Amino acid sequence: MTKQDDIWNCTECGSEQGRHDQWFDGVCEKCNSEKMESIYMEIKKEDIDKMRIAIDSESVNIYIEFGLDSDIEPIHIAYWIIDEWEEDADVAVSIFKAIEWFYLDKKRLLEILGFSLVD
Ligand SMILES: [Zn+2]
Repeated sequence: MTKQDDIWNCTECGSEQGRHDQWFDGVCEKCNSEKMESIYMEIKKEDIDKMRIAIDSESVNIYIEFGLDSDIEPIHIAYWIIDEWEEDADVAVSIFKAIEWFYLDKKRLLEILGFSLVD
């Protein structure tokens, strides 16, 4: 939605917005998308044990699975496909590191990947 006022200020970053800018409950589009991103990047500590890794010849996938009984969609933590490591060998090193952390310390892996852990 947009706001009727000609000029308004984002309550988050303070930037001046006009009539045609999107208004998200007081914040501008940019701040709103950052906010959505950070919500998406939150992982409950109790869910760390539900982290899974799937490795096949074409992909490496790290995710959180809530089980067949649950309505909650799996959360994707990290995903690489073969094209990525064929194009750029550095990607392979990142994958090896991620696998290593997955087995050594899942909490640390989530932190490295930029997730925040919440209670
Ligand atoms: Zn803003």
